[in-house]
Amino acid sequence: MSNKGRVFSGARPTGRQHLGNYLGAIRNYVDLQEDYDCVYCIVDLHAMTTLAELQNIKPNTAEMALDWLAAGLRPEDTILFAQSHVPQVTELHTILSMFTQLGKLTDLPTFKDKVRLQPHNVNYGLVGYPVLMTADITLYKADIVPVGVDQQSHIEFAREIVRTFNYRTKRQVLIEPQMKNTDFPKVLGTDGKKKMGKSENNHIELSLTPEETNKVVSTMVTDPQRVRRTDPGNPEVCNVFTLHKYFSHDDKVASIDTECRNAGIGCVDCKRMLADELNDHLGPFRERRAELSRNPQYIWDILYDGADRAQKIASKTIAEVKSATGIA
Ligand code: ADP
Repeated sequence: MSNKGRVFSGARPTGRQHLGNYLGAIRNYVDLQEDYDCVYCIVDLHAMTTLAELQNIKPNTAEMALDWLAAGLRPEDTILFAQSHVPQVTELHTILSMFTQLGKLTDLPTFKDKVRLQPHNVNYGLVGYPVLMTADITLYKADIVPVGVDQQSHIEFAREIVRTFNYRTKRQVLIEPQMKNTDFPKVLGTDGKKKMGKSENNHIELSLTPEETNKVVSTMVTDPQRVRRTDPGNPEVCNVFTLHKYFSHDDKVASIDTECRNAGIGCVDCKRMLADELNDHLGPFRERRAELSRNPQYIWDILYDGADRAQKIASKTIAEVKSATGIA
């Protein structure tokens, strides 16, 4: 790796990625490769905090990694790996937990949200989530972490753990990560109401076939006030129009805007055009994905190679951390 700044980002293995992931995260992951050395981790250990998904974690890891690579991650530059393949992270997690006050962890709004969501399973990992996240970031000596608003409190928390560790050990072994705001307006799902996501089953997967894409786009909810084909539409409240803004050329967006408002086109036409745009845009991605998945072992080779490279950085950090604490 070069002397460029180092970016770290982790994401839970959610399997095949959808348009929300693509617009809100993956595009940014790909672009960051131009200016930074990037370390991208599929956080399979974090995923275990919600035990219902255990048997899906491994296949979801492979599917997600395939989507990322097909979208443009370059494994020759970027370190792409699965969190559990680098055991040093659990070692650092244990050490950092001794520098973290339990009360602060249980006070975090994100922890309280999780308790509300799974009151029957408030496991130890759920409380320690931000400490494991801090171990992820600091193990690889990342300077920068791309974050949306929802994760900012966790990065603040990570910075606090780093400051405590460096202060108490009187060494500057760990780097206090800087946040890079990558907030993107939330992409709504096919229902036109809720954030696109798998749990809402309102998502459009990147790797659908063109026929499947046409079908799912045809079910999208449009402007609720436009009942008849002859009614003038209101593109500003229509999620199909919002997606056109992301995937269609400006002149086409302008013409759809006008034609929708004067009832020149109907919602069915507008959705058909969106499906065509999506299929065009995602064509090269889908071809590349098909090519990469021809050999099922390929993705694991990439992930294990990434883990080897990550471990080189990790072992050095762990040695420094142990020396700083005085235990080695
Ligand atoms: P995680 O549990 O890691 O947040 P998600 O699948 O919810 O897993 O999200 C992964 C990334 O994709 C995050 O950066 C998230 O902000 C982004 N993302 C997911 N869904 C959407 C959406 N509907 N709109 C915008 N960004 C999204």
